[in-house]
Amino acid sequence: MRIDDLYIILTEADEKLPKEILDNVEWSQTKLTDAHVQHIIAEVAKVTGKSHKEIEDHILQNIRVFDQFKRITPHLHATIALNAIESEAFQMLQEFGVKHPDAPKLDLQTIEKLKVFIGVKYEDFYPLKSSRTHQFLKPTFKWVPSSKESDEAFQDVDTAAATRDGVFIFNKNFCQNLLEFGKIKGIKMKDSYYASQGGPIPDEYGYIEFLIAHEYLHWTQSDWDVPEHYTKLGHEISPMVANWVGDFRSNYRLVKEGLPQLPMGLFSDSINYDRQHSFGQMAKIVQSEFAKLDEVQKDVMEKILGKMADDHEHQGGEDPKKKPKLNRKIIRRAPVDVVYDFPHFKVGGVAPAKDKGLLNNIRGVDPAKIEISGRPFSDGMRVLVAKDPDPKVSMRVYQLNLVNGKIDPKLITDGVNPDGSPAKDELILVKPAPKPAASAAPTPPTSTPGVNP
Ligand SMILES: [Zn+2]
Repeated sequence: MRIDDLYIILTEADEKLPKEILDNVEWSQTKLTDAHVQHIIAEVAKVTGKSHKEIEDHILQNIRVFDQFKRITPHLHATIALNAIESEAFQMLQEFGVKHPDAPKLDLQTIEKLKVFIGVKYEDFYPLKSSRTHQFLKPTFKWVPSSKESDEAFQDVDTAAATRDGVFIFNKNFCQNLLEFGKIKGIKMKDSYYASQGGPIPDEYGYIEFLIAHEYLHWTQSDWDVPEHYTKLGHEISPMVANWVGDFRSNYRLVKEGLPQLPMGLFSDSINYDRQHSFGQMAKIVQSEFAKLDEVQKDVMEKILGKMADDHEHQGGEDPKKKPKLNRKIIRRAPVDVVYDFPHFKVGGVAPAKDKGLLNNIRGVDPAKIEISGRPFSDGMRVLVAKDPDPKVSMRVYQLNLVNGKIDPKLITDGVNPDGSPAKDELILVKPAPKPAASAAPTPPTSTPGVNP
């Protein structure tokens, strides 16, 4: 019997968290006024033509969900909520391709050097050794997207992942985005191998060190074996809960060791080896938090935490029933054909002039009588309703179908991303449409005070 197993049995009755405050970890806390957040907002404003204020409002609207969950399930969300604004800013950076001209480029030679330094720094990583089976591993790295046929199985990794047999997969675009974000935030590392301490590795790679160490820990801790292990002991831990616990545990350790907290991920001051003695105890806390939620809240929370985590499907711990729902960060997207920008939507003679722009007036109309943002109707075209006076319609994407010779609009998005783009399971990417010459939309500012060019 392992010491872990003993603890879960001995302390079964003790489900309460220790009362003492731990000061072990300095968690990231981000405000809207922080320079790096403001920098990203200014860049997104340039790309989208939206005002600074509109983007700020979207961020604030989007993080409200963390404040709500924080009250119900503090152990899962309180620490994440502290940094929710930064997570939103990072998501916008990814969505709109925000770059910093001086950010280092992802370079595989630099990564090779970094791997050596990581091996020296963490004694469980060189050689890489499983704490459960005591097996040693020579890790294989895969970088995607890749044109190699042998990498086909890993192309869908959007962030990073590890497999049971020791393949570590990293998405190059995601890593580059971390480097851009690190430059914009100005992260500085304390280890001697980083540039600010006179070493060869750019400081922004501190985020990459975090990512590599996080994936190594999934392997050294054999996280995919956990559910089966505990089932044998009579304690049910679902693969989803095991994934979350693994992330909370590893990320706590890495932040405690002084690595820069990633702008996304599962972080909790309540769930870690400083507070609990075993994985099973951590899982109990996650499960009892989860039990406080109703079905709708559970669904929303699965989505939120799934989006924050790295890619666990390749870690073999996925609950098959839930497979499509979890751990997908940025996914398949299809562009929207047309931006319907009120008042460039004209219905010939069917609506009073004052109602011309209303999307609802398009229903049942003969397609020959219609023109949308200067384009004729085509069956199945998708329109982003940019400025409908009805707030329930505005910023949603509709598909305009032809039914019995008449137009039948069908809503295909269910919400709005923090940047204002429509969202339905993140299927739609709205590219900023060229503005019609007659558009009264404000032109984006050419420079923003207080932001580096
Ligand atoms: Zn993970």
